[in-house]
Amino acid sequence: MREGGCLCRAVRYRVAGEPTASGIFHCTTCRKAASAPMLPFVTFAVDQFEITAGASVEFRSSPPVIRSFCGRCGSPLSYRHADEPHCIDIMTCSLDDPEGVPATFHIWVSQKLSWIRISDDLPAFQTTRAEPKGERGMLHPPPPGRMSPRVANPSNSQLAGASDLSQL
Ligand SMILES: [Zn+2]
Repeated sequence: MREGGCLCRAVRYRVAGEPTASGIFHCTTCRKAASAPMLPFVTFAVDQFEITAGASVEFRSSPPVIRSFCGRCGSPLSYRHADEPHCIDIMTCSLDDPEGVPATFHIWVSQKLSWIRISDDLPAFQTTRAEPKGERGMLHPPPPGRMSPRVANPSNSQLAGASDLSQL
């Protein structure tokens, strides 16, 4: 059983079971939600998650996505996507012991801030972990001709990012 909550402790939660994923979001939407350059998350089965004190506030950041946070201190707490109704992503650093769930990958590196240097050896995905195999684990865009249309060149990455953001 793991416990966590927001900065002011108005909202507390617990979650059972083991996480199915632990990663770091680099997308612009998560940056805004966290007001930070990246947002680490841990995925659990949603039926293992329980609010034990207070109540979080929910915000729909795009049609399929609901984010929760503390309405008093603003700490981001969770992320749920309609495509994965059985899962909940808990913001890793809202856990009392984030050391216990180290991140094992980066996603949405295509939208990463240029001044953030990923210096670990973890797999870094341009978008989600479901992206084509050929793009796996690449920190930098592949050479021309091997790129996916979504990140075909830097000049249209803003545009591609904007359309991707409708799902984040
Ligand atoms: Zn709070």
